[in-house]
Amino acid sequence: LIQLYIPLNFLGVLYREIRQALTDIERMFGLMGTHREVADAPTAGALARGPAEVRFEQVGFAYDPSRPILHAVDFCIPAGATVAVVGHSGSGKSTLARLLFRFYDVQQGAVRINGQDIRQLTQDSLRAAIGIVPQDTVLFNDTLFYNIQYGRPEASREEVEAAARAAQLQDFIARLPDGWQTRVGERGLKLSGGEKQRVAIARTLLKNPDILIFDEATSALDSKTEKAIQAQLDAAARGRTTLIIAHRLSTVMNADEIIVLDQGHILERGSHAELLARGGAYAQMWALQLEERAAEEEQTAA
Ligand code: ATP
Repeated sequence: LIQLYIPLNFLGVLYREIRQALTDIERMFGLMGTHREVADAPTAGALARGPAEVRFEQVGFAYDPSRPILHAVDFCIPAGATVAVVGHSGSGKSTLARLLFRFYDVQQGAVRINGQDIRQLTQDSLRAAIGIVPQDTVLFNDTLFYNIQYGRPEASREEVEAAARAAQLQDFIARLPDGWQTRVGERGLKLSGGEKQRVAIARTLLKNPDILIFDEATSALDSKTEKAIQAQLDAAARGRTTLIIAHRLSTVMNADEIIVLDQGHILERGSHAELLARGGAYAQMWALQLEERAAEEEQTAA
């Protein structure tokens, strides 16, 4: 019986891991209930690891043909650079991330990595090269250690600990009575939004991807947490090609280029200073956020 039990148990663990991996990715992309649309081309090759230039080339896309979402979106993230996309809710920001991860294929134009159309790459190699820090990280009902090691299950304890340090989780973990063995998730310790995002950053650092997608949380964070996350994001982005889907302009200030998306069109682009000097939509969004921040601080002070 034991001979039967071991493989069955192994299959159970494997099944659980696969389910969880899918759940994580599907949830982070809001794909629950939708079907997969892409398949590997018969001639698909593996993406070589290393510095990656990401290019959106005249990309047009619609989930539903009667409602186009992106129109001739064209921008490039040179290897190691950071591009941030801002814009109103529904302007198509997260759709760009979904297309880069190839959950859907573009209908016009192409997404290219180092000049290669991603439709000509194997999905496994593409997804292995991309790390995502999602808006709302899914935590498994397991230990904190498991939740971080999940970024690269074969990573050693030292590697997991180094990733946690880089994401500035070590003090938090040291203060927990059960430390690394603390159970988190639905039935365990509930982490704050900022703590969850740090777990996600640690996971991603462990995966060590060439391309990083950071989908910023929409929920308001206090300015201290926001600054801490900013510092960790900067550390995670160093040396990687980074796409930030941004909701708070403070995150985008240091990006090499900022793209302002409006109903699927690029409305403005440039550095923070250039866009402020232009006095357009970005400058207005910036002024509005400064006002909101001042009002918030007044309220906390009162
Ligand atoms: P937010 O800032 O609120 O996250 P966003 O700019 O990231 O918004 P997207 O998530 O890219 O916006 O969505 C762009 C548009 O596409 C929205 O109008 C949305 O309703 C629509 N959309 C998103 N996902 C799907 C889907 N799976 N099927 C059909 N329409 C979708």
